[in-house]
Amino acid sequence: MLSYEHAYHIGNPADVLKHWVLSLCLQHLNRKPREWTYFDTHAGEGLYHLDDERTQRLGEWQQGVGKLSPELRQQPEFAAYIRALEAVTDTWPPQTLPGSPVIAAGESRAQDSLVLCERHPRALGALRRQLGRHPRVSIHERDGYEGILSQLPPASGRGLVLIDPSYELASDYERIPQWLNKAVQRWRQMMVAVWYPCLHHEPHLAMVRAIQGLCSPEGKPLSWLKVECHLKAPPERGLLGAGMMVVNPPWGLLEQLQAGAHRLAQDLALEVTLHHSEND
Ligand code: SAM
Repeated sequence: MLSYEHAYHIGNPADVLKHWVLSLCLQHLNRKPREWTYFDTHAGEGLYHLDDERTQRLGEWQQGVGKLSPELRQQPEFAAYIRALEAVTDTWPPQTLPGSPVIAAGESRAQDSLVLCERHPRALGALRRQLGRHPRVSIHERDGYEGILSQLPPASGRGLVLIDPSYELASDYERIPQWLNKAVQRWRQMMVAVWYPCLHHEPHLAMVRAIQGLCSPEGKPLSWLKVECHLKAPPERGLLGAGMMVVNPPWGLLEQLQAGAHRLAQDLALEVTLHHSEND
């Protein structure tokens, strides 16, 4: 039984990190005219309204999107992310926030397509209302790991996979590296972004190490980039921070993250750390 609903957490600092990195990856794909495909294993609702009672209950966005300064909003490294936010709201702070599929749909061009998986009935209904009639979006009510693996590689050979589970099931930490090992056999060049929470008992560490050790079908280590945000005033329980790992990161992404990290850290009271593979 799925109980997690992203509407409770939309726009929090962990979400800002994820959607910022996602927007940059999509922006990189748009640098070439050739089409790309975006795959979202855990798509969520697509669009979130801040007056939703679930979102109001915790108000987490106020510590995230709600704290983005005018300086950050002017910085070039955040342009794609801010464009995604402004595409769905006329006001600041926003009244509506985009989830990952809406961000990808917004960045997509006439030649690009999206493949989305979601299993929660309420999230699926919202996602279908939001993007179900979009001609280049296919939505699947199925397990995201199986559903997306069966679609790889895309015909164009270009694209991005976002893996963003709720980690309600501890098995996600093992399933992701296993999934990546299979996926890379099918699609050597795939760019993949994996979001993960940082918790007191650090269940993400083994997963991160496994991703750092990924190899191509020929046995060559894959390049990766890791960005983590830790709250400067962490709570006694719950989320201490979050990370994003990008496998096969686009050239220049690291420098963009380095250039934006200081401002993000200041605005959201975070420590931001960046690491990358040696083969970059
Ligand atoms: N990626 C979204 C975004 O950034 O806007 C948020 C996704 S949320 C963290 C995780 C979503 O995965 C939830 O909507 C949940 O219902 C869904 N989910 C959980 N298990 C799933 C599975 N096995 N396959 C597909 N979706 C699943």
